[in-house]
Amino acid sequence: MDLLERIKDAGVIGAGGAGFPTHVKLASKADYILMNAAECEPLSRADQAIMAQHPDELVKGFKIAKDVANADHGIIGIKGSHPELIQLIRERITANGLDGDMEVGILPDIYPAGDEHVIVHELTGRVVPETAIPIAAGCIVINAETSYNCYRASEGKPVTEKFCSVVGDVPNRFTALVPVGTPVETMLKMAGVTDFSNIGVIDGGPMMGRPMKEIGGSVKKNSKAYVVLKKDHRHFRRKSISLEAARRVDKTSCEQCRMCTDLCPRHLLGHNLQPHMSMRVMNYNLKSIQLKETAQLCSSCGLCEYFSCPIGLYPKSANDVLKAELMEQGVKYKPTKTEFKALAMRPNRLIPSKRLIARLGLTPFNKPAPFIEIPESEIPEVKIMIRQNVGAAPEVIVAVGDHVEAGQMIGKIPEGKLSAPIHASISGTVTDISPEYITIRRG
Ligand code: SF4
Ligand code: SF4
Repeated sequence: MDLLERIKDAGVIGAGGAGFPTHVKLASKADYILMNAAECEPLSRADQAIMAQHPDELVKGFKIAKDVANADHGIIGIKGSHPELIQLIRERITANGLDGDMEVGILPDIYPAGDEHVIVHELTGRVVPETAIPIAAGCIVINAETSYNCYRASEGKPVTEKFCSVVGDVPNRFTALVPVGTPVETMLKMAGVTDFSNIGVIDGGPMMGRPMKEIGGSVKKNSKAYVVLKKDHRHFRRKSISLEAARRVDKTSCEQCRMCTDLCPRHLLGHNLQPHMSMRVMNYNLKSIQLKETAQLCSSCGLCEYFSCPIGLYPKSANDVLKAELMEQGVKYKPTKTEFKALAMRPNRLIPSKRLIARLGLTPFNKPAPFIEIPESEIPEVKIMIRQNVGAAPEVIVAVGDHVEAGQMIGKIPEGKLSAPIHASISGTVTDISPEYITIRRG
């Protein structure tokens, strides 16, 4: 079986984003393949743990991905704020005889350094056009853990484990490699949470993560972190606001200062994204489709909403509303040019991670989340989400009562569809299959 087939069979998907199937991404020919080891979201520590724990698998997996994509250059993007990891990865590149294949590229400690468009520009100087993905600029971007999973796939090992952190306002912050499907509640208990009544949990990072309405669900192949805050923490309250409430606040207060636009990472790359215009459209109920369309260029990084706006308004949410409206109408933004150039003032408008963390009120929690080993007995049951990838849900191929071995495929790619298979992450018995989850009891 060739390497691309192995990666496909192993169910490798983007380990840090929406979960795009990696075998599809690597099927393009690229000039550059870039590893996103930026650990972009505040407080998150999973990528740092992979680099520290598995540097050899990481660089070998990146070489495999580079070969599969037939890329000319490989660059591993790590923030300059992690000199010890930069040194370690450079040593392991040399020790594995990969100096001719890849190098470490130093990223600034800014948010959002891991945004695909931003990392392409920082590491190659190129600009990905509006509405396009990095391959339009000759680049493929994969996450650090995706590289690690490509290595494991080459050894015939499917994706059954996930590096994940529990951070924030908890007694014991930690990062661990846990079976896919580990219940979120189990993760929180391991962090020392005993009273669930007053905590809010963000699934993902503080910026792009989703505030959980109720604590449930389980670790997915693209989970990175669970951020725990008190329910009345300002950032948790802001993240939990409904679109309708955000719209009401926006309408009464926007002063069109355009700070949201001036600091927008995509605007700074020369894209025609102007969140202050989205606010104007919303506030004055403007009908112009052209003014609305630019909202579709928004990456939802959240910088305008949680950092830039001096009076705490919700321009990202305005974009979300407009995007939903346009999707319903079947309207798609069409770029009016093909060449894009970053704005000259961009270097002076980058937002240091530390300033962002302070603005979010998270400085007291910006502390290490040490890597720990978790005994099997702590995770007696897993709930494996069926649809974890972009595209079609895999087709379930087990039944309640079946005994499955760890690594066994339990959901396959439907014929002719963009999808990724799922595998049992522990050995045991299938005890339940719902439209969303397959539950396996260890033993
Ligand atoms: S949303 Fe905030 S930053 Fe943007 S224009 Fe309005 S007041 Fe200024
Ligand atoms: S969320 Fe705001 S800052 Fe981020 S890309 Fe969208 S408009 Fe720009």
